[in-house]
Amino acid sequence: MDVYGLIGNPVGHSLSPPMHEAGYEQLGIDARYVTFEPPEDGGAEAVRSAANLGVSGLNVTIPFKQDVLDAVEPDDLAARIGAVNTIDFSTDPPTGHNTDAVGLVRALEHHDVSISGRAVVVGAGGAGRAAAFGLADRSVTVDIANRTTEKATALAEEVTSADAVSGTATGHGLDAIEEILADADLLVNATSVGMEEDRSPVPAEALHGDLAVLDAVYSPLETRLLKDAQAAGATTVDGAWMLLYQGVEAFERWTGESAPVGAMNDALRGGLE
Ligand code: NAP
Repeated sequence: MDVYGLIGNPVGHSLSPPMHEAGYEQLGIDARYVTFEPPEDGGAEAVRSAANLGVSGLNVTIPFKQDVLDAVEPDDLAARIGAVNTIDFSTDPPTGHNTDAVGLVRALEHHDVSISGRAVVVGAGGAGRAAAFGLADRSVTVDIANRTTEKATALAEEVTSADAVSGTATGHGLDAIEEILADADLLVNATSVGMEEDRSPVPAEALHGDLAVLDAVYSPLETRLLKDAQAAGATTVDGAWMLLYQGVEAFERWTGESAPVGAMNDALRGGLE
């Protein structure tokens, strides 16, 4: 039996176990997915211990996504993003990947959103970095808006100067949102604004019907931003789709099988709704 899992602190309410185990069950794979909660300074050590114990793969969440870089060989995208959320122990040393970036892109593709043109990414933390690099790698022109403007401009410089990147990025403060959204095709909320609160990081009047809007926040599923976007006639994609596809991407990397997306989605949404 293969053992996969998630390290985070806290991890108690994670929906990754039912999501992955629904996939194993559907495909008849003999595997379990369990959660581990190392102490806050113990991320890299937990990865080394997992390797010694024969764990096959680990997902990584807050606060360990940066710390585990010390215990893995990151692939190019994870190194550029500076964060790892998926570890593959079939190699020595274990390899670190960032499936949030690809998860975002696959969530958009699932909704037939074209990954092209201009995107506004609000936020420059972990999710913002994944979104900015993931979209720029697909030749999208990215405007990053963040409460702390310096973080947005620094990230934009990193994105634009990274060798493998074909798109470009520009950094802004939140006060530029209305202006940069006017001719944008895509909006991604990668801040925590809207989580368990009826608040949006984007003024409703800045939204328009030519936009596709993905909110990385998945609790609640229908955030204030997505309600405003629907009212403006925009295409909307909730955060559970990104959560699903970052898991699907990890599942496929570990098992070598095409993930049963429907079964995994049902298990995830069953836990969220
Ligand atoms: P993070 O690294 O802590 O970054 C937080 C971001 O939110 C920063 O850009 C921060 O701006 C901004 N922010 C926080 N409070 C704000 C406020 N009151 N007004 C304006 N901006 C504010 O967190 P993260 O890991 O990127 O996660 C961000 C969100 O994405 C969370 O809700 C998380 O659950 C979600 N997420 C979802 C998925 C998914 O698969 N759906 C994956 C990853 C993350 P400053 O830089 O100015 O502090």
